[in-house]
Amino acid sequence: MKSLFDPRQAQDFVSRYPTIPPELALRVYTSRLIGADPSLVLHGGGNTSVKLRGKNVLGEEQEILYVKGSGIDLATIEPGGFAGLVREPLRKLRKLSTLADEEMENQLQIHKIRSTSPNPSVEVLLHAFLPHRYIDHTHADLILALTNQKEWEDLLKEALGLQVAILPYLTPGLTLAKGVLKEYEENPKVEAVVVAQHGIFTFGEDARAAYERMVDYVGRAKVFLKRKAYGGALGISPAESNPPEKTASSLARFNQTVRGACAFRSPEGRLRRFYAEVRTSNDLGKAASAPAASRLCSSGVLTPDHVIRTKNKWVSFGEIPEDDGKLKQAVQEAVKGFAQEYDRIFAEQSGAKGIRREKLDPYPRVFLVAGAGIVALGSTRRDARIAADIAEHTLRVKLLADEAGEYTPISESHVFDMEYWSLQQKKLGKVSPPSLQGQVAVITGAGGAIGLGIADRLLAAGAGVAVTDIDGASLGKVRAALIKKYGESQVESFLFDVTDYGAAEKAFQDISCRLGGIDILVPNAGIAHVAKVEDLDPRKFDQVIAVNLKGTFNVIKAAIPIFRRQGTGGSIVVVSSKNVFDPGAAFGAYSASKAGAHQISKIAALELAELGVRVNLVNPDAVFGDEEIPSKLWELIGPDRMKSRGLDPQGLKEYYRQRNLLKVQVTPEHVGNAVVFFATETSGATTGATLPVDGGIPAAFPR
Ligand SMILES: [Zn+2]
Repeated sequence: MKSLFDPRQAQDFVSRYPTIPPELALRVYTSRLIGADPSLVLHGGGNTSVKLRGKNVLGEEQEILYVKGSGIDLATIEPGGFAGLVREPLRKLRKLSTLADEEMENQLQIHKIRSTSPNPSVEVLLHAFLPHRYIDHTHADLILALTNQKEWEDLLKEALGLQVAILPYLTPGLTLAKGVLKEYEENPKVEAVVVAQHGIFTFGEDARAAYERMVDYVGRAKVFLKRKAYGGALGISPAESNPPEKTASSLARFNQTVRGACAFRSPEGRLRRFYAEVRTSNDLGKAASAPAASRLCSSGVLTPDHVIRTKNKWVSFGEIPEDDGKLKQAVQEAVKGFAQEYDRIFAEQSGAKGIRREKLDPYPRVFLVAGAGIVALGSTRRDARIAADIAEHTLRVKLLADEAGEYTPISESHVFDMEYWSLQQKKLGKVSPPSLQGQVAVITGAGGAIGLGIADRLLAAGAGVAVTDIDGASLGKVRAALIKKYGESQVESFLFDVTDYGAAEKAFQDISCRLGGIDILVPNAGIAHVAKVEDLDPRKFDQVIAVNLKGTFNVIKAAIPIFRRQGTGGSIVVVSSKNVFDPGAAFGAYSASKAGAHQISKIAALELAELGVRVNLVNPDAVFGDEEIPSKLWELIGPDRMKSRGLDPQGLKEYYRQRNLLKVQVTPEHVGNAVVFFATETSGATTGATLPVDGGIPAAFPR
């Protein structure tokens, strides 16, 4: 393992942040070097610190500990991601034999130098107790492959040499900090401390030394494992999130079924669903099929930090059955068994410790699927990805550890302490999630203004959104606009033609592999053609019918097996048109196709109620969009409409505004809000309904 420390880059960091001390700028630099290597830390794991002298408001000199904020990702950390604390009062806490969670949290808050800085890392006391200026801490894969062993002590000594203190597992917080400090005081020459089944700490008087010791010791572990000819597992190539065609169809069905089996009612009565994230490769598929798979799944987390992301144990699942009934039964049995075991351990541990904790949901986050790989679940797509990444690393480390000896899990008691440690739970955030969090929404014809408006409102309500269209260029623009506003994690785009049933099925399979399934379907793709019946080209008529009517039918039909496998209801919100109730001359193809789509949607409302799937319609009128992302429909028919009314583009917008009762310009967001209304549980008693979004057109009142 090579040091990536580059003195020029280091200097760049010092120049980049001229208002902060150079020592802190260098702390940012080497923290990012560590964060950029997923074999050292994953997603907010690990922590780093630096101690500086500074003056308080009275001009009194004091030592300030800057430690990484809890849950902040080292890969992208900024100076503001470090919490500054007065060191001395924290250092004195070593005199205590115990420290209750609430008091620990209190101490960390009252000794911060800025009330607005993030909560410090849960390992802050260790950073405060040790005297070294720079401290780096990781959960490096290669170190964990040695620490999570029956013969951990001998292996570590042989691999890492004598300048390292090797400690048994100690509960993070005060106990760990005191243990490490004692070890240092007995042997001040140590350059690093390894804590069994947890990770490694390295120290240095400057940023480079602490970082390079980390690289050095992890490198020694690698050399040792190689020398022993272990390390087949090290060669496993990174897995893919896009499964090959032969497994895609079964993984899509698996994801849909698993989401259904793991959805649960929250205490406040809301149905909470998960996103699914797939990791697949030949190697992972083989490992998942091997006889050791069930042991790998039940042997727990590598380091306690991971438990809040993946739960301690995983589900080992055999080949995915071809038959939906068998699949559902197998998944439900596996999930039920997992949940019962989780509840049992919770009761046992809280009983043994004599404490009361609010039990978290008992559902699995990671499935190891024979012949396929890993499927991970999360309440947000980011959570699902974090769980999948951690699971992938965990699997490799366990395979490697098995080569080198006998993988030994952390005790259930220790894992329980970490899972239910209030400071750990804080990382996940307790605020009530947005109304559509956990749900996957699919919008067709999303490459225009209305599609953008709908996607925007669904994302704001917390949904994961798949925007789809046949036109890659306009879809790309919409995707970019959404990512700019909401970030990448909740947005995906897919190209397909709604007139082709097979293409719709394939797209929904891809969406299910990528996000888990479908909960909200918004058939929105539409085209128009201006011509009187007398002049209407029959081929044009066919085209409009194919997109507007058949396209709506195709996507509704293709979604039904997914709703059925999930078994958690769902919502279809069809973007219809004011023209259904109030058609216009020379607009026959559009009005007839929309009327047909309206009718098939109402039939779907009748038929899908038994699945808990509600089907509702919104009737917009005259939605134009803006110059950046215009309405494609209006781009197509606008010039003809303008000609027939003798108006310019602005005049045309004004004409439509003046013709409605409220004299409002109907916007894509108005349509999006109506879709969100129908998609949320708020409207749970409504199906088969039509909501006009037209500013009020008496002739188009639904009746
Ligand atoms: Zn740690």
